[in-house]
Amino acid sequence: MDLKSIWEEFLNKISDDLSPINYNTWFLETKLINLEKNIATVSVPFHIHKKHLKANYYDLIQKRFTEVSGSNFEFEFVTKEESEEKKVVENNLGVPLDNFQTNLNPLYTFQNFVVGESNKFARTSALSVASQPGKMYNPLFIYSKSGLGKTHLLHAIGNYINENSNQRVLYITSEQFVNDFIELNRKNNDGNNLNAIENFKQKYRNIDVLMIDDIQYLEIAAKTQQEFFHTFNELHTKNKQIIITSDRSPDDLKRLEERLITRFSWGLMVKITPPNFDLRLEIINKKIEAHNLNDEFPTEVKEYIASNCTSDIRRLEGALTRVIAYATMMNESKITNELAIDSLKDYFGNCVGAKNKIEQVLQTVAAHYNISVDDMKSKKRKESIAIPRQIAMYICRTIYDEKLTKIGLAFGGKNHSTVLHSIEKIENQIKKDNHLAQEIKKITNKINN
Ligand code: ADP
Ligand code: MG
Repeated sequence: MDLKSIWEEFLNKISDDLSPINYNTWFLETKLINLEKNIATVSVPFHIHKKHLKANYYDLIQKRFTEVSGSNFEFEFVTKEESEEKKVVENNLGVPLDNFQTNLNPLYTFQNFVVGESNKFARTSALSVASQPGKMYNPLFIYSKSGLGKTHLLHAIGNYINENSNQRVLYITSEQFVNDFIELNRKNNDGNNLNAIENFKQKYRNIDVLMIDDIQYLEIAAKTQQEFFHTFNELHTKNKQIIITSDRSPDDLKRLEERLITRFSWGLMVKITPPNFDLRLEIINKKIEAHNLNDEFPTEVKEYIASNCTSDIRRLEGALTRVIAYATMMNESKITNELAIDSLKDYFGNCVGAKNKIEQVLQTVAAHYNISVDDMKSKKRKESIAIPRQIAMYICRTIYDEKLTKIGLAFGGKNHSTVLHSIEKIENQIKKDNHLAQEIKKITNKINN
């Protein structure tokens, strides 16, 4: 969860404790702006808020926030001016602000990463890199299907390094890297490039540890791959630690430049596989403990969830959240088997449906462009239908690695060469049009949610 969603969930909770007038006056315009080393910094509109919140709501804020985040934080309230002043002071030191922005989520740690057979090796490698960045395995390449803990491990490494040294850590998704690079080129075209290039290099090359999440998205951004190659080389030569995650092994990242793949194999590659029943159960127990709900959860409900959510820890957490929300809505204090089964009926149904990626792509792309799935499967050549159809085929092939014949079948019985032609067309288009790449990224994000 990012800061914004954590705070939204918190506000949602605390609004139930307060009268509307109190909530609107004291909480409505607050924002969580930082979470680090057990301190949560909250921005408030005026000085009076700082005083009032501390004097009247501190304990309640702490309590509700722990329920959302699972850990205990001290709170610091700052007005907008104060947070601006702080930035100015940091800037005046001559150090660019970006260096202070690690993008780390303090809620993902080694302490709350539950270990089992399927992730033991990845976790040990991660810890080893965290204790001696740049010295052990460089790069460290972690790969697995979605929802198995890659992002969690990256943040855990970053938080560990942050706590135990003053090395500069940067966590970034490959999407953000692509965006920054596009922005850099835009400024370049505006003739306003010197500062922009300097900032970009400061951000990515003047650090000790670079963690880049979901590298597979670089596949659809050929130019950015070259820039990443240079960034990689410069950091690696200086013995700076690089950690990369991907939803596939390097060998299966077919659209990445060969020289990048070669470099990934210089270090250590580790795979996380789906959790077995014991690990799933233990993760459920840990999450329930963190929310202080031990008494409400009978063993059989936990086992029911663990047996039905087999492939993905994110979905496992989703199932838990759903059961808890359902019990709250129904005002039940005890969570029974019937309640669990009832609340998870559709959810587990979704799990099964989710297996058919092509169907999901069809539905998502159709919804995105406001056309029907039938249109997508039709032979209509109108641009408003043909282009989304080509994009959908492209996504099925490049992102989900589906076979051409299978895609053809699902798209209303198109032949192999039609599918191939469509995919190539989008590929060429993307090379010329960065916005299209961004749009496709947006769509795939929706599919993964
Ligand atoms: P990925 O990046 O591989 O898609 P995430 O790291 O986002 O997966 O994990 C999905 C969710 O599952 C996160 O909320 C994460 O905290 C949780 N999770 C994954 N693995 C573990 C684990 N071993 N112990 C505890 N929580 C885990
Ligand atoms: Mg991830």
